[in-house]
Amino acid sequence: MSVRVGIGYDSHRFAAGRPLRIGGLTVPHTHGLVGHSDGDVVLHAIVDALLGAAALGDIGSYFPDDDPQWKGADSARFVRGAAEALAAGGLRVRQVDVTIIAEKPKLAAHLGAMRAATARALDVEMSAVSIKAKTNEGMGWVGRGEGIGAVAVVTVGPAETG
Ligand code: MG
Repeated sequence: MSVRVGIGYDSHRFAAGRPLRIGGLTVPHTHGLVGHSDGDVVLHAIVDALLGAAALGDIGSYFPDDDPQWKGADSARFVRGAAEALAAGGLRVRQVDVTIIAEKPKLAAHLGAMRAATARALDVEMSAVSIKAKTNEGMGWVGRGEGIGAVAVVTVGPAETG
């Protein structure tokens, strides 16, 4: 099997009084992201990209949001689960690239730690994980600060060729 590419997108709404979990970290902010799990848009986008690369469906089919076992779950568990599903099919993650779209908070200072946490969840080198952040120039729901979006692209390849 040759190298395959997957894309994932996710968005979550802000609510006051929740920790902001993003990229496997807790980032200080007035609001957190609402979700059945910890609401980590970055890791959810990566999970969908992983499953997409292997044509294995999506995050909702593996980790349904009406399943109590995933309530409040650390989304790193979803990343590990998706990576295990790929491994069962003889595939391994090669590289991940993520763009976060968020008006607030400023995320630049946290991107290195997000890369490290994401690489740990994926069991890959940090150099295989890119995470970038940008604003939406004040436009639309992101611009109004209603939530955060993330897009991920991954490449996966045969496990045996390293
Ligand atoms: Mg999600």
